[in-house]
Amino acid sequence: MADIQTKYLIIGAGLSGLSSAYQFKMAGETDFCILESRDRIGGRIQTKDAIDFGATWFNDGHSSLLHLIDHLKLEKYRQFNLGKSYFVYSPKAAPQVFEADQNDAPNYRVKGGTISITERLAQELEGKIRLNMLVETIEEHGKKIRVQTKEISYIADKLIVTVPPQLASCLTYQPALPEELIEAMQKTNTWMRNAMKVGIRFKTPFWRKNGQSGILVGQAGPVIELYDHTNYEEDSFALMGFVNESLRELGKEERKDTILTYLKKYFGKEIEEYLSFEIIDWSTDQFTACLNLKPLYMSSAYGNSLFQQFYMDGKLIFSGSETSNNHGAYLEGAVYSGLSVAQKIINSST
Ligand SMILES: Cc1cc2nc3c(=O)[nH]c(=O)nc-3n(C[C@H](O)[C@H](O)[C@H](O)COP(=O)(O)OP(=O)(O)OC[C@H]3O[C@@H](n4cnc5c(N)ncnc54)[C@H](O)[C@@H]3O)c2cc1C
Repeated sequence: MADIQTKYLIIGAGLSGLSSAYQFKMAGETDFCILESRDRIGGRIQTKDAIDFGATWFNDGHSSLLHLIDHLKLEKYRQFNLGKSYFVYSPKAAPQVFEADQNDAPNYRVKGGTISITERLAQELEGKIRLNMLVETIEEHGKKIRVQTKEISYIADKLIVTVPPQLASCLTYQPALPEELIEAMQKTNTWMRNAMKVGIRFKTPFWRKNGQSGILVGQAGPVIELYDHTNYEEDSFALMGFVNESLRELGKEERKDTILTYLKKYFGKEIEEYLSFEIIDWSTDQFTACLNLKPLYMSSAYGNSLFQQFYMDGKLIFSGSETSNNHGAYLEGAVYSGLSVAQKIINSST
């Protein structure tokens, strides 16, 4: 099949890639497209049955994201935290009970779940996103750049790679990228790549009636953080949180029993009357975690200066939350890097 030509090409339809594409559209560009390996958009944003199994919270410091949410006419609301919360330092001892300080800076969620941000962006980008396109090779092609998927290849003037750096280091580049860049990519931890999230839906928010906030924290138990995950409309009720990674060793049913038995101690028998129970383990997600990477020393620093430069003679640039020197690894970093890299490309093309 002949190469498909496009002016600007973006790899990855997560928040960063979609933000870049949106910036192109806002600047009046029409000749661009996004290649996404999965059969869905969103990347590390994944909302199922009103539960955010990927990214959830943001705050007043996340200005690019807040601006985007406003601009897309989406609504934010505060994370519920009223009532008794628990800190468990040992599952064998009584928990410390506390109440969240209502004067603390709020954490927000988006009405419709975090997926509503990427879905709204995708609505604006109709016809520009190609799903099930796993990019394998990126090669310089004279004044252009060629991107090879299994079946099709694309030729572009400029390319933005938003794949998390560690995973992006596993792609094939011709000519090879500078060694120091590959090393920086391999050392840049993909935030939350090992996270396991649990979402448990209920008919009623019984914990609220019992004067509980739904918050339970403590590294020692099978659930290390738990929160109320009632939706904006208050017609879907859930508890959602992070599972202790030691449960990865257990089978599906054993994990579930361990979690429910633990939560019953703090929230009572009503925990057993759940409507649905699901765990998503991001460490098994081949489009987030680089599964064939040898164990190596990882840095917790994000936004390495090597990610701020163009490669392949000004045709290739990296983006995505981990490359951002502003709130790196967060949703904010994804939006900030996505918008600013697209703007950099627009500026360099005029
Ligand atoms: C469990 C969890 C909880 C989180 N909680 C929060 C939170 O509360 N607040 C917060 O701010 N952030 C949170 N984050 C982080 C947040 O999700 C990320 O910072 C953000 O979504 C990253 O967006 P991105 O576009 O940079 O990368 P990604 O979302 O990873 O997007 C990259 C895209 O590239 C695609 N891709 C990968 N390889 C290829 C390939 N070879 N070819 C084509 N496409 C490819 C992927 O499928 C993906 O869609 C959380 C993340 C997880 C996993």
